[in-house]
Amino acid sequence: MSAGKKEILDTAGINTRLGHLGNDPHDFHGFVNPPVVHGSTVLFPNAEALTAPPEREQKYTYGTHGTPTTDALCAAIDALEGSAGTVLVPSGLAAVTLPLLAFLSAGDHALIVDSVYFPTRRFCDGMLKRLGVSVDYFDPGIGAGIEALIKPNTRLVHLEAPGSNTFEMQDVPAIVEVAHRHDCIVTIDNTWATPLYFKPLDFGVDASIHAATKYPSGHSDVLLGTVSANARYWPALTAAYTALGLCVGPDDAYQILRGLRTMGIRLEHHQRSALRIAEWLETRTDVAAVLHPALPSFPGHALWKRDFKGASGVFSFVLKVDQASQFDAKAAAFLDALKLFGLGYSWGGYESLAVPVKLGDRRVSKAPTEGPVIRLQIGLEDVEDIIADLERGFAAVASLGA
Ligand SMILES: *Cc1c(COP(=O)(O)O)cnc(C)c1O
Repeated sequence: MSAGKKEILDTAGINTRLGHLGNDPHDFHGFVNPPVVHGSTVLFPNAEALTAPPEREQKYTYGTHGTPTTDALCAAIDALEGSAGTVLVPSGLAAVTLPLLAFLSAGDHALIVDSVYFPTRRFCDGMLKRLGVSVDYFDPGIGAGIEALIKPNTRLVHLEAPGSNTFEMQDVPAIVEVAHRHDCIVTIDNTWATPLYFKPLDFGVDASIHAATKYPSGHSDVLLGTVSANARYWPALTAAYTALGLCVGPDDAYQILRGLRTMGIRLEHHQRSALRIAEWLETRTDVAAVLHPALPSFPGHALWKRDFKGASGVFSFVLKVDQASQFDAKAAAFLDALKLFGLGYSWGGYESLAVPVKLGDRRVSKAPTEGPVIRLQIGLEDVEDIIADLERGFAAVASLGA
């Protein structure tokens, strides 16, 4: 990219940056988008070029080590995260597990936030323990109090802000300060906010993780994960990535870069609609609580306001149900009456989705007792139509009686 353009992009607005980051069209005959390079073998001009150790002169050496397509996406994400390097992996879950494998060894101890994405917990309780790493879960509201949980062998603290399904905020700078004082690495699953609404490395976090499957993809059709590290931890991250033989297909990398171009304007729309719907839900007598960090009533709101630049379109609410024995039946009645909302996992696409939330695996932060929790992903549909669909759900619950 020309020096002048790079300087302009460094200080430009976010949608300008999203429109121009990653590749330079003039590198490929002026085509606006980078080529989708399918390749394993890369040819070398002669025997010396092939064997010259250790720093080979030519930029590309083998498909698993990067192509112009994957490089364009990594460069765009590095610019957004302010990271020293980014690796691309086949799913968001792989983006969580890779840094845990890269940074932890047998005998180490890791602290994981209790409101973590469930498959992360399954990995920690299963494979990490089998490899000799011990794990404790901590209250998302712990803040600097995390110091009491740090042991001599604690090596890593993993955050996810806000938490999965229940959206608990964490005091990221307070936790980072304590962790770094004890020489622990801090990783964060930043999927909810995207680097547009929270930049973890600016708060001292060492590695930022994304399920690019969500907002960067934006269309419920690509699975991909990214891990971006600061200069201190980039060498260990990229070494583990290479050792494990990880890589992604060029078509998927291309689609994620394509998604980034519109992510800013999509997120603005998701944010606006989701907040309007969250505020509307708060006024209803058949809703016990709305779990959305941008609502002033939400316990973690002050932390969100202090550190985040926005809120995406996923949040939960607690349906008001008097008897615990009716939680499942009433949640099912609500969900089954929805016509526009799809019932399915994942989020970040253009379409609205709803799922029942199960919190039985939590150790510290317990499930609400006022009723079942339902998670909504607010899509790009018109907000009046989304509200009308939710009203169908509430009517179905009411028709069941007390
Ligand atoms: C969806 C999600 C993941 C996993 O992403 P996949 O691409 O579906 O594997 C990881 N973390 C969070 C917070 C998620 O929401």
